[in-house]
Amino acid sequence: MSSKINNYENTNRLFDKAADLIGLDTDTRLLLKTPFREIQVEVPLRLEDGSLEIFLGYRVQHNAARGPMKGGLRYHPEVDFDEVRSLASLMTWKTALVNVPFGGAKGGITCDPNGLTVRELERLTRKFTSRIGFALGVQQDIPAPDVNTSAQTMAWIMDQYSTQFGYAPGIVTGKPIELGGSFGREAATGRGVSIVTQAAAADEGIEIEGARIVIQGFGNVGSYTAQLLSEQGAKIVAVGDHTGALFNGDGFDIPALLRHARSERSIGGFPGEAIESDTLLEQECDILIPAALGGVITRDNAGDVRARMVVEAANSPITTIGDEILNERNILVVPDILANAGGVTVSYFEWVQNVQAFSWEEDRVNEQLEKYMLQAYQSVRSIMKERSARMRTAAFSIAIERVAKAEKIRGDL
Ligand code: NAD
Repeated sequence: MSSKINNYENTNRLFDKAADLIGLDTDTRLLLKTPFREIQVEVPLRLEDGSLEIFLGYRVQHNAARGPMKGGLRYHPEVDFDEVRSLASLMTWKTALVNVPFGGAKGGITCDPNGLTVRELERLTRKFTSRIGFALGVQQDIPAPDVNTSAQTMAWIMDQYSTQFGYAPGIVTGKPIELGGSFGREAATGRGVSIVTQAAAADEGIEIEGARIVIQGFGNVGSYTAQLLSEQGAKIVAVGDHTGALFNGDGFDIPALLRHARSERSIGGFPGEAIESDTLLEQECDILIPAALGGVITRDNAGDVRARMVVEAANSPITTIGDEILNERNILVVPDILANAGGVTVSYFEWVQNVQAFSWEEDRVNEQLEKYMLQAYQSVRSIMKERSARMRTAAFSIAIERVAKAEKIRGDL
């Protein structure tokens, strides 16, 4: 799987399609596409074996017209400027679409965290934080977890930032509860995926009870998505992660798979028929949910997808050409900026709780999350009808209009 196709140009093509639909003028397009600030830092790390390794870390702040910039941090060997820029831009559209008062940013470090010890990861995170700290801020730019980063990573960032700039729990979201994290944040992206999947399935005439679902990725997003959809009666018939893929036509025992994945840090070794990872996305199902990395449904395999609906739990899992092919085949694609927006929505609730120093109960978080997700979903559905647009273009067009309006009122246009 390569996220190399998942680049800024790809995202801008999606932007342009929606901009064409709403007749956006050239000046506004240019302003909205250009990132506000891009940072690359050298992060030297003395490894425990005594050798010195130099890592590269990035933070791209894409747009702040609607509020402080918000976006995750990814630790992965394929992280580069192009990928971070693309993901930062998606954050701008995602926060606008779910209508939380944030802009968009993203960051990461090019590294293989599986090859580092916990102590090395902590020092890497602290050094990275101290080098980009000048550009972060509770009212400026607020990181969160993404691929291979977790609540623990956020705790290190909060501690490091607070040491340098003063106590600031709101500097990151997705923190441990003990440090001001929000109840419901860990499950929020998967919960949002599950809410939107159920709403879209109902509109497509797919009964969730008994629906066959295939999920690629069994980390934070994939595992909670599997749990919440199986609680609604769906059958998770195939799953895959970086170690391989498994099939079970009767549907996996998800609570048992979750316990296994949490203790073994992968699905490897769990009972089920082993299948080639390459064939996972081609398994026959009602709903296919890519929840790992970008660029996995491409011109090469989009013709082989055998699902009625694809829900983008991961960011940019479908290339532009892959998207065209699915569209021609009348397979509904629920776009990432809608499907996985539950994480940033509850990140917003976490930030609100930090700013007010007042904690919400989990039921309130989940209720509000459902409200935001369904509002966004319904607004996308009605624009699809009104503008005869595909779901992705409709979602982008709503987001672009909101950001353009904010820029205009501020006076930059
Ligand atoms: P994670 O690190 O918790 O899990 C990633 C999963 O992908 C793991 O199960 C891993 O084994 C799997 N994976 C990695 N390489 C793979 C490969 N080659 N083939 C198959 N599986 C592979 O990450 P996450 O937080 O669950 O993020 C997953 C996706 O969701 C990413 O695209 C991320 O940007 C997106 N996302 C995450 C959040 C969030 O709140 N965590 C929010 C919005 C979007």
